[in-house]
Amino acid sequence: MKALVKSAAEVGLWAEDRPLPQIGPEDVLIRVKKTGICGTDIHIWNWDEWAARTVPVGLVTGHEFAGEIVEKGALVQGLEIGQRCSGEGHLIGKLSRQSRAGRFHLDPATRGIGVNEPGAFAEYLRLPAFNVVPLPDAIDDDIGAILDPLGNAVHTALSFDLVGEDVLITGAGPIGIMAAAVARHVGARHVVITDVNPARLELAAQVADVTPVNVAKEDLREVQSRLKMAQGFDIGMEMSGNQQALDQMIDSLVMGGKIAMLGIPPGKSPVDWSRIVFKAITIKGVYGREIFETWYKMIAMLENGLDVRRVITHRFKAADFVQGFEVMRSGLSGKVVLDWT
Ligand code: ZN
Repeated sequence: MKALVKSAAEVGLWAEDRPLPQIGPEDVLIRVKKTGICGTDIHIWNWDEWAARTVPVGLVTGHEFAGEIVEKGALVQGLEIGQRCSGEGHLIGKLSRQSRAGRFHLDPATRGIGVNEPGAFAEYLRLPAFNVVPLPDAIDDDIGAILDPLGNAVHTALSFDLVGEDVLITGAGPIGIMAAAVARHVGARHVVITDVNPARLELAAQVADVTPVNVAKEDLREVQSRLKMAQGFDIGMEMSGNQQALDQMIDSLVMGGKIAMLGIPPGKSPVDWSRIVFKAITIKGVYGREIFETWYKMIAMLENGLDVRRVITHRFKAADFVQGFEVMRSGLSGKVVLDWT
């Protein structure tokens, strides 16, 4: 089969022929139809310090996918050949206290497809049946291929009650934009999204009913008073990993405000803890998706009017993956989807 492989410890990915994955009794084999390119894949392409430390050379990459089950192991129940599906890319252990309590997303032994284990940038993917998420007809393969990052957005957005609240999202990448759409869908009052990249802010306004703010040019306080916020934002979602963005968020929150944090700051970054204490702010780190509650809620919302389709800005044949990665690396795209059919 064709696959995109991290064949060498240098910049790039390479299309290679690989043998079909062998499945075990509790696995399924999935014919991959569409895949999304993630920021994580860009780190792997760039072979930065994190990637070099984490990803084994020779790995089939990719973790955002939609496809169809073509083979199933002898012990697999409840799934059929021909079932359209996506799936959770975090392969969890079953031995930790967290897993045994059903908090699978907190299992410390988690391994990721396309990062630690063979991934989805391939014609076929082996996946434990446990990780499979069947797709209803209402969710096509394009959307199926971006459920992993949409799940990050949903997990972050549903971390706190948003009904009637004023929400600040820092970072208008695809996940920030999708989180804005989710916040509106579940009933937030004002959703403001900040960035310094005009193209991303423009895309945010196209995808969701939000107020985009370019913090390089506009004063966030003026926006707050224009929107008639008495004190500030009730809830923050940090999606940029940028220290100044987090600083501004802490500054702009009400007393007792809450922050869900998905963005990853580079290394150790200075934090003015006194402001967090005196404002009585709650900060929650968000990792992955709740397995499988986030998936359930996400699919239910998609079936009930949540529309994130326009966050997909580019589609390429898998053979043209180099173009797809170039578009992603430009920082000017939304989600980029590769077609493996
Ligand atoms: Zn991803």
